[in-house]
Amino acid sequence: MRAFVYDRPTRVEQAVATVTADPQAAFLAGGTTQLDLMKDGVWTPDRLVDISRLPLRGMMTEGQLLRVGALTTMEQLAAEPVVARRLRFVREALLAGASTQLRNMATIGGNLLQRTRCRYFRDPTVAACNRRCPDSGCAAVANTARMHAVLGVDERCVALHASDVAVPLVAVGAAVTVLGAKGERQIPLTEFWVRADEGPSIENVLGHGELITEVRIPLLPEGWTSGYLKVRDRASYEFALTSAAVALRMDSGVIGDCRIALGGVGSVPWRAWQAEDLLRGTQPEPTLFERAGRAVMAGAYTLPGTAFKVDLAVRTLTRQLIAMTSAATR
Ligand code: SF4
Repeated sequence: MRAFVYDRPTRVEQAVATVTADPQAAFLAGGTTQLDLMKDGVWTPDRLVDISRLPLRGMMTEGQLLRVGALTTMEQLAAEPVVARRLRFVREALLAGASTQLRNMATIGGNLLQRTRCRYFRDPTVAACNRRCPDSGCAAVANTARMHAVLGVDERCVALHASDVAVPLVAVGAAVTVLGAKGERQIPLTEFWVRADEGPSIENVLGHGELITEVRIPLLPEGWTSGYLKVRDRASYEFALTSAAVALRMDSGVIGDCRIALGGVGSVPWRAWQAEDLLRGTQPEPTLFERAGRAVMAGAYTLPGTAFKVDLAVRTLTRQLIAMTSAATR
């Protein structure tokens, strides 16, 4: 076992200052990803700053905004009545993720910061991994790759962002509040992660010592319908092959407005802007839904093991759009 210093501060500012002052220090929250990485020897911090005692749990509604403390667990967020009423696709994505045991430990802040599940990244005996060791190559591109991304990737890295709940959060326009040595700032989730084709070794825009303190989720207006569809190899405790988070409002038989994001396909949770633009103001029609899906997947970078995701993502989005437009007109 590799020795490390363990701190457990009680104030947020104290935690931020401790990590900021030590380049080898890192925050520890629920630990559901980090402890695995430490045991595997993939992640080797010299100091862990356990933030689990900080006052960052709980939720409050402020007008049309749900403010969620970063240490709120996935299970607590799923159980919040306003999430069931006004953010149904967030609740469905939460409950489709991991297992009940993990959801009771995993925090919403930690979920957003989870590392890729790429098997080569998680195996330190594999030398070629640009994400773990910059400029070392990418073992996934040359070997078997299936649970990998096809959007926002290139030959340097095809790592997938595997979060479920991040997908509807990106669709609905959520943001995070972060605190660092220079103060507080808010970052929209659409600008939070860095695509693998923009730099494989940088995963998000957080500076060292910056801590997510809350997630700010706009509530869907009354009259909107939303849902999350996850396609996976087995029915529980499995990551998405593809997923679609759709929220929309129908106006007199046409799609008045919509928010769409895809999971299981991108190096970051993928906001489907092209699909939204194509669908607004149109009558629900499966061929149009498929065209919208093809527009999102255009330019996908595929490997032999991941090529199936292009058609599967189009079908996943088409099916979810059919379901949501039908539900909205009932
Ligand atoms: Fe590393 Fe990315 Fe290649 Fe996986 S896909 S081996 S994380 S560089």
